Amino acid sequence: MIQKTTPVRQILKISEKCNQCGNCCNYGAGFLFGDDLKNIAQHLNITQKELKKKYLEEKEQFNKTLLRPKSTKKPFGPCIFLKKNICSIHSVKPLHCKIGNCNKHGEELSAWFTLNYLVDKNDPESVRQYKIYLESGGKLIQGGKLQDLIPSKNKLKQILSYKILR
Ligand code: SF4
Ligand code: SF4
Repeated sequence: MIQKTTPVRQILKISEKCNQCGNCCNYGAGFLFGDDLKNIAQHLNITQKELKKKYLEEKEQFNKTLLRPKSTKKPFGPCIFLKKNICSIHSVKPLHCKIGNCNKHGEELSAWFTLNYLVDKNDPESVRQYKIYLESGGKLIQGGKLQDLIPSKNKLKQILSYKILR
């Protein structure tokens, strides 16, 4: 069972069976984390600055500004790295892309990624947005309740009632 604390190597193992059908890449792209920026720039033999300017865009998620490959048609068009329906940077694709979401564990994998990479429990606005995500049908995995993120009932109440803003 996938839970918040499941290690990334185990998640990547569960996700590894991407057969590069290109389906998910036609509707947007995954977010970059860690060494993704460096690795993709090296792979394309360009600077990180060039990579950002030419191929990446900023997108806010859970009150965090993140980078992802541009879409060639707004707002949900194909990823700029999708060529003839195949990922042209497959060996260095962003972590988010490696966490496949089309297998039977897709919903849990997506929730794991959200909890570990997108939501910031130290940012009250991020926590409030996570609450909305859960209320609108976001998958809940073990370790992902609001009370798990903010164990103090009083603090959580204050965050959710906007008494703690930042
Ligand atoms: S993650 Fe799934 S949908 Fe996306 S390219 Fe791989 S097999 Fe296709
Ligand atoms: S980087 Fe590759 S895997 Fe990720 S969305 Fe773009 S084409 Fe798909």
